[in-house]
Amino acid sequence: MQRLAIFGGTFDPIHWGHLLVAEMALHQVPLDQVIWVPSLNPPYKKAALFEHRVEMLQLVTKENPAFTVSVVETNRTGTSYAINTLIDLAAIYANVHWYWIVGLDTFQTLPRWYRGHELAQMCNWLIAPRLLGSGSTIQSELICQQVEQQLRQQSQTIHWQLLNIPLVGVSSSLIRKLCSESKPIKYLVPDAVRSYIMAHNLYSKKSE
Ligand code: ATP
Repeated sequence: MQRLAIFGGTFDPIHWGHLLVAEMALHQVPLDQVIWVPSLNPPYKKAALFEHRVEMLQLVTKENPAFTVSVVETNRTGTSYAINTLIDLAAIYANVHWYWIVGLDTFQTLPRWYRGHELAQMCNWLIAPRLLGSGSTIQSELICQQVEQQLRQQSQTIHWQLLNIPLVGVSSSLIRKLCSESKPIKYLVPDAVRSYIMAHNLYSKKSE
C-alpha cells in the first residue's frame, strides 16, 4: 500500500516554509509521495490567478521526484473544499493510505471546515508547527489535542502526528506584502519563484 500525502493550500506564492514542511513529512512518516494541491477557489481567500500559482508550484517541485502537483480542483466549480479533493484523488490513486499535511494554524480550524468531521477520519493528519502568537512546540501539542477533543465531542476520531520541524516564520502574505512594498524576497522563496513573480509583475502595487 502506498503512503501518499495531500498538501493543500493557496500557494500564493509557494515559499521555503511549504517546501521544508513537505520534505520533512516525506522523510518522517515516511511517505512515497507528496501531492501538492493548489486550491482553485479557496474559501475565505482572494488569490492570484490559479495558472500563476500552479506554474510557480511546478517550477520548484519538478526537481523532486517525490513531489507531484495535482490540478484536480479544476474538475469542480464553485468553492474548493478539501473533502472533495480527497474523494477525487482517491478515485485516481488505488490502494493508498492517505495523509494530509497541514500547518498548525489551518489544522486548528478543521472542526469548522465543510464536512470537516468526516474528512478528519478519512486520512492521517501531519501537522507542521507554526508560530501562532507566542507559539511553542508544547503549545502545538496542546492545540492538536484540543482539536482532537472537539472532534471527539461529536463522536469523531482523528489520527494526527506533529511533525518535527523547526518553526519557520515565512508566509505567503509576508511575501505578497514585501513585493507590494518593492522589498527583497530573496531567501524567502526559491529563485525560480522570485524570477517568476518579477517577470509577471505579481503582487506589486501596480498589479492590484
Ligand atoms: P497566507 O499567508 O496567504 O495565509 P500561507 O503562507 O499560510 O498563506 P498557504 O498556501 O495558505 O500558505 O498554506 C498551505 C498550508 O501550508 C497550510 O496548511 C499552512 O498552514 C501551511 N504553511 C504555510 N506556511 C507554513 C510555515 N511557514 N510553517 C508551517 N506550515 C506552513
